[in-house]
Amino acid sequence: MSETMRAAVLHGREDVRLEEVPVRPPGPGEVRVRVRAALTCGTDTKVFRRGYHARMIQPPALFGHEMAGVVESVGAGVTSVAPGTPVVTANSAPCGRCDFCRGGRDSLCDDLLFWNGAYAELALIPERIVAKNLVPLPAGLSFRRAAMAEPLACVVRGVEGSGIVSGQTVAVIGSGPIGLMFVRLAAAAGARVLVAGRRHRRLEKARELGASAVVSAEDGDVADLLRRETPQQRGADVVVEAAGRAETSAAALRVVRKGGTVQLFAGTPAGTTVPLDLAHVHYEEITVTSSFHHTPRSFREALRLIAEGVFDPDALISGERGLEAVPAVLAEMARGSDDLKTAIVPPAR
Ligand SMILES: [Zn+2]
Ligand SMILES: [Zn+2]
Repeated sequence: MSETMRAAVLHGREDVRLEEVPVRPPGPGEVRVRVRAALTCGTDTKVFRRGYHARMIQPPALFGHEMAGVVESVGAGVTSVAPGTPVVTANSAPCGRCDFCRGGRDSLCDDLLFWNGAYAELALIPERIVAKNLVPLPAGLSFRRAAMAEPLACVVRGVEGSGIVSGQTVAVIGSGPIGLMFVRLAAAAGARVLVAGRRHRRLEKARELGASAVVSAEDGDVADLLRRETPQQRGADVVVEAAGRAETSAAALRVVRKGGTVQLFAGTPAGTTVPLDLAHVHYEEITVTSSFHHTPRSFREALRLIAEGVFDPDALISGERGLEAVPAVLAEMARGSDDLKTAIVPPAR
């Protein structure tokens, strides 16, 4: 008789079910991890609403991608970890061979391998991810904190790619988990941080994480409101768009200071466009940039920032639920619940 486990399975639009599914022993190079904490993510909400993600997941499929746990068994040839090792894994790994990988731009890998299956009792980690992005936990780090390393790794790259340094004024548009991670890392870098968002509770959270000023999108034009908070109203040195909408991207281009940088961080649906004032971009030397995903290096850097307490994931974890609650939690998020991230904790064995 083959072995089974409980896991959340994505079947299509707003259709995630908890099922008993087969699970096999790890093959050569693979590792099987007993999941101890998985985190919900805005990307999962997007996928839940749409039913798929062109690059990351096609139903029917195991679901969830932010996870930490304990190595349960290892396949032939695995020497980096052993049964009993607490680990965290990223949800992808680059090939290491294409032009982009060899040029140090791993997140643009032509053959980026994505993995899903965090909302489950057991996670079978593919060989390539074991080799590149399965990392033992620093001593004393909880599973749910460690599971935040994946999204934080994306933000680490975003902060670096925007050239955020001490003394700058940084405006963040969007107060979801990603926007709030930017707030914390930019403040930790010594920048003065302004935040625009919609929900009172999240704007309060932005202040707790180090924002000097917050503005509510309900009070008027976001670009005007943010600009008023910058020195001499000249605009922000760096503007991070973390809301993923055309209007807020256009607003970001109106908040940036002469010589400044606009980081269009959030992913948008294909075909989303914004008008670009070319004279503004040229005569004021505006840099418009974007940062996608993470790399093995930024994943380790994120884990270090968590372990050293520079960023405390618990600030963004609204609560803990069991595996059976995954469909309900995703439905709540899709309806716009105020919760930031929920830790999904499978039953202990
Ligand atoms: Zn995520
Ligand atoms: Zn590659």
